[in-house]
Amino acid sequence: MKEKIITKKILKWYDLNKRSLPWRKAFSLQRKQYYTLISEFMLQQTQVTTVIPFFNRFIKVLPSINSLAKVKEKKLIKLWEGLGYYSRARNLKKTAQSIIKNFNGKLPDNFEDLLTLPGIGNYTANAILAIAFNKPYIPLDGNIERVLKRYLYLKKEKEIQKDYLVQKKDIFGTTSRSSDYAQALMELGALICKPSNPICNQCPIKQNCSSYKKRDFSLTKKIKKNKDKYFILKVYEKDKRYLLIKNTKFRFLKNLSIFPMEELSNPKNFNENLNLKMSNMNMNIKIQYLKDNQKFPSSYWLDSKKLNSYMLPSFTKKVVQYLEKN
Ligand code: SF4
Repeated sequence: MKEKIITKKILKWYDLNKRSLPWRKAFSLQRKQYYTLISEFMLQQTQVTTVIPFFNRFIKVLPSINSLAKVKEKKLIKLWEGLGYYSRARNLKKTAQSIIKNFNGKLPDNFEDLLTLPGIGNYTANAILAIAFNKPYIPLDGNIERVLKRYLYLKKEKEIQKDYLVQKKDIFGTTSRSSDYAQALMELGALICKPSNPICNQCPIKQNCSSYKKRDFSLTKKIKKNKDKYFILKVYEKDKRYLLIKNTKFRFLKNLSIFPMEELSNPKNFNENLNLKMSNMNMNIKIQYLKDNQKFPSSYWLDSKKLNSYMLPSFTKKVVQYLEKN
């Protein structure tokens, strides 16, 4: 009963306050599905306001799954230029090709099939099912998570884990307007229950919100555990110059200049020389000095005296600085 009231209040607020976004307009079912697919890929790492002009240009040039499946890589990347995370664009094209080949040109309407498409994980599948197919799913994005945490006053480490939040989202209830409801919850988080200074006096669910009752809106930050990784980093040195290669091997620092490296899985008695943090990795690095006797494709010699004149990732610069000192 309580859930039904929350659902009603949130939908009512949404009907009066929702932003007019290009993928929200009334379209045919087929277009709605295509637009949801494109917007959800673009929104994966990017803010709504940034996405809008990119989305408009994209659907103008590529108005259907068919045109997306056939687009040339160069044109696709040009359309994505400025949005970053280009793997999203490539996955989007692969997804369109797979939809044509395996699903008769139609975006699948079930979880299992959606998860077979490149670039679609749990969150995006939930979002597509709710928004494009009006199914009773609630995609837990950052906005909805924040509303949930504040509404239920979830602060403890165990309470802010994904699995726990997934169970708790039932509090939002269900409605026959699942598509609007998923977007309404996202919108509530984006416009009202903002990361700092939530506008509680305009919030439709403030009456039952535990954070509002306690006047405590702080959020517990998740402690990110870095994964331990082990690498042998090979140093070929010649007259204070170091051999660098173009990285086509590792997913991090893709296509950038790095020292030749090899990853080891769980080595025993690994005495690292250097420890560097990158994204979610704790990189334990053992340096191996080698003679210049191996050929690498796309390699060059870096003059360490002119370090700052090279375009290098800070990871490589740190390694050079370490080598110069030791
Ligand atoms: S009352 Fe305030 S803290 Fe609670 S959900 Fe609404 S905006 Fe967020």
